[in-house]
Amino acid sequence: MALTLSHRCQHIAPSMTLSIDARAKEMRAAGFDVVGFGAGEPDFNTPQHICDAAKEALDRGMTRYTPSSGTVELRRAICDKLWRDNGLSYSLDEVIVSSGAKHSLFNVFQAILDPGDEVIIPTPCWVSYPEMVRMAGGVPVFVRGHEKNSFVPQGEDILRAVSIRTKAIVITSPSNPCGGVWTSDDLQVVADLAVDRGLYVVSDEIYEKLLYDGLWHVSVAQLGEQIKQQTFVINGVSKCYAMTGWRIGYTAGPRDVIRAMGNFQSQAASNANSMAQHAAAVALNSDQTCVREMVAEFQQRRDLIVQRINEVEGISCAMPHGAFYVMLNIKKLIGRLHHGQHITGSMEFASMLLKDKQVAVVPGVAFEAEGYCRLSYATSREQINKGLDRIAAFVSEIE
Ligand code: PMP
Ligand code: GLU
Repeated sequence: MALTLSHRCQHIAPSMTLSIDARAKEMRAAGFDVVGFGAGEPDFNTPQHICDAAKEALDRGMTRYTPSSGTVELRRAICDKLWRDNGLSYSLDEVIVSSGAKHSLFNVFQAILDPGDEVIIPTPCWVSYPEMVRMAGGVPVFVRGHEKNSFVPQGEDILRAVSIRTKAIVITSPSNPCGGVWTSDDLQVVADLAVDRGLYVVSDEIYEKLLYDGLWHVSVAQLGEQIKQQTFVINGVSKCYAMTGWRIGYTAGPRDVIRAMGNFQSQAASNANSMAQHAAAVALNSDQTCVREMVAEFQQRRDLIVQRINEVEGISCAMPHGAFYVMLNIKKLIGRLHHGQHITGSMEFASMLLKDKQVAVVPGVAFEAEGYCRLSYATSREQINKGLDRIAAFVSEIE
């Protein structure tokens, strides 16, 4: 037998968001003054009371295996949160804790997809969905959203993408990479379609708390008992509690699939980190002032970055209403020259910007969105100003 990689692994693309962040960190370690708009990671420290809870977990000897689907303490805290914040009633066996929302999503696709099953993914989309679907043998089917509609796809376009092979539709609201927020009407279209055709909905709500301009979050699962039975609500603590490294995510959904995900996870990974589970329960159960403070700061950064981008001739961005990303429209720059070098697309733009001005952004191709680059404003206002000064200088040098 030849010593080869599996067919499946030969074709997996690495996460471009993580690799750009790693490249920016490497350059910084080598002494470059890099402004990083790459990673979708809050720059705040995890709030002190959550860190204290993890220390207490260690002191109390919570260092052993937990039930592989998560501790009762954390699953209870998740059920309480879903009821309190979203009006959704789940029992403990309808919830499973995994090692980050990324792991939760991976497990959902493993549990529901057979080879050839199609999953409708609105684009621009987060980098990992298409690869996760492919890793489960599925086929991603993209439906494009347009900038003028905050990148939220039109109902008729989603309908047109449905085939007899469609198994699920992904919703990400607020969205990564666009910051778009789906209205109740947008969600209702998908809910009606899913119920009518018997499709699952994978609702990624990881940015739920990061909403601006007085908007509030609606989950598609809230739109009726039947759609709730067909929906996987995905969430976690990474973004809203600045806990990216702790790796706690969760899924709430139909009991039979949650049980299958539990079987799968028990063979593949066992439980998520035991101390982090206790800390996540404390994060969900305690006072939420820390979240409100972070959201207020993100909103100010959003206002700043949007204003600074739209002041530069040649680039623009729409106003995002959630998450911490903006999509920089670079369509007017494509085909032009920077110091004699052709900007053939978002990939070249991003790599020239990093090399020439030490500013890290993620090319739109990573999100099925050529003509754009994603900027994360989960960084200080000082860095935002510095980065935009450099981007403005770069753009002014383009002929
Ligand atoms: N979904 C989306 C849309 C994301 O941007 C991220 C960020 N990594 C995740 C899921 C996964 O988050 P985590 O695994 O850190 O919980
Ligand atoms: N979700 C973040 C991002 O999009 C973190 C990186 C990742 O998990 O892809 O940048």
